[in-house]
Amino acid sequence: MSIINTYDVIVIGGGPAGMMAAGRAAERGLHVLLIEKNAVLGKKLSITGGGRCNITNAEFNIRELLRHYGDAEQFLYSPFSQFDVQRTFKFFTDKKLPLIIEDRKRAFPETQKASDVTQTMIEYIKKNNVTVLIDTCVDGFKMLNGKIVGIITKQGTFIAKSYIVASGGKSHTETGSTGEGISWLSQIGHTVHESNPNLVPLVVDDVWVRRISGTTLKNVGVVFRQETKKISKSGNVLCTHFGLSGPLILNSALEVKEMLKNGVVTGVVDLFPKDDVGAVRDKLQDILKKHQNKTLANALREWFEKGIVDAVLESFSHDVKICKAHSLEKTVRNAIVDRMKGIPLTVTGTMGYDWAVVSDGGVDLEELDTKTMRSKLHTNLYVVGDVLHIARPSGGYSLQLCWTTGWVAGDNVGKG
Ligand SMILES: Cc1cc2nc3c(=O)[nH]c(=O)nc-3n(C[C@H](O)[C@H](O)[C@H](O)COP(=O)(O)OP(=O)(O)OC[C@H]3O[C@@H](n4cnc5c(N)ncnc54)[C@H](O)[C@@H]3O)c2cc1C
Repeated sequence: MSIINTYDVIVIGGGPAGMMAAGRAAERGLHVLLIEKNAVLGKKLSITGGGRCNITNAEFNIRELLRHYGDAEQFLYSPFSQFDVQRTFKFFTDKKLPLIIEDRKRAFPETQKASDVTQTMIEYIKKNNVTVLIDTCVDGFKMLNGKIVGIITKQGTFIAKSYIVASGGKSHTETGSTGEGISWLSQIGHTVHESNPNLVPLVVDDVWVRRISGTTLKNVGVVFRQETKKISKSGNVLCTHFGLSGPLILNSALEVKEMLKNGVVTGVVDLFPKDDVGAVRDKLQDILKKHQNKTLANALREWFEKGIVDAVLESFSHDVKICKAHSLEKTVRNAIVDRMKGIPLTVTGTMGYDWAVVSDGGVDLEELDTKTMRSKLHTNLYVVGDVLHIARPSGGYSLQLCWTTGWVAGDNVGKG
């Protein structure tokens, strides 16, 4: 097998973490090769945030921000002290990609296009003369006497002084993130935590959910239950043809998955989590009074969109649905309110890697130097982005992790 060129740094994976690491290392004058198996860079980055890219979370207080990274909070303090959310804003704004902040402090490019973020990163690496090799799949490390001396591809072995693994996790495998980097790191001695789909939609058994596929239930409460265990959340829920998605669901997935190990999880959706039953009865009365000559279904349509009305009336007879609002019996009105306060759910599972925003698992942080992202086992190896074992919620936290760890590795690689 031929040996191809020598570089200061080889970065494996052309996602956000890899492009940031490669760009920063090259900006410091290092000779950098970036290898990507796809024909394009940033394939996953370009579909983030529903095509809009939730690029970071505008929590500028590092301690507050790091609370969202679970057990990794302490480890991440040093990387975030070097490249924090403020730096992310500056980084993109300086490159003519200003950011805007939406609800839950989620930041997006002002252009609302994830492809603009990918393009900005591509321009960053090009400007700093990173050599990019696309359509090239890395098969693993070439080792000699326990040391990494190269990386193996079908095109030959590539040699560098240092290596940065940025090959991603296992979610949405069609984007190229198939998790093999995590396997190579395990083979060369790193402790690797089992991978699991996370921030993933839930599969439910309830017909009403599938019937209103495409409908978003805004600002609802959801309670998941199993015996004595209970999880309560509030936010937006998206009904789909297989079950439930949307921020509230994705951020509940990890806990629900844990419960699912013991069997089916039941629950309810509360359309009015801030109101008690009495307050909702008053609201319903007002609507029925205002539209007293309409059928119940049509009167409710003045209040909710069709999908939600269908979900509420699912358990009622046709006669009730077409009954005039003014002649509805009290028992029926109360039953409607009970339904609005607790539409039943039966969760039977979670969707797989192809639906997950991120996968959990990856390299144990104990084996990495927090100041540099360098491996404590191999002095010429750095690990960044989704390859790391770090849990986090949705809301821009995953990409911020890539910007920070990528930049820190690129800024420290080759410093001795
Ligand atoms: C649908 C979806 C929406 C998302 N939206 C958001 C969002 O709005 N905000 C947010 O913060 N996060 C979001 N995420 C998560 C975010 O995209 C990831 O955390 C991020 O892309 C991880 O970046 P990375 O560089 O570590 O890995 P990746 O983006 O997975 O990139 C890794 C790259 O390495 C390449 N590679 C893998 N193996 C090899 C190999 N053997 N040889 C060569 N190349 C290889 C892959 O092809 C890939 O291009 C979303 C994820 C998904 C799936």
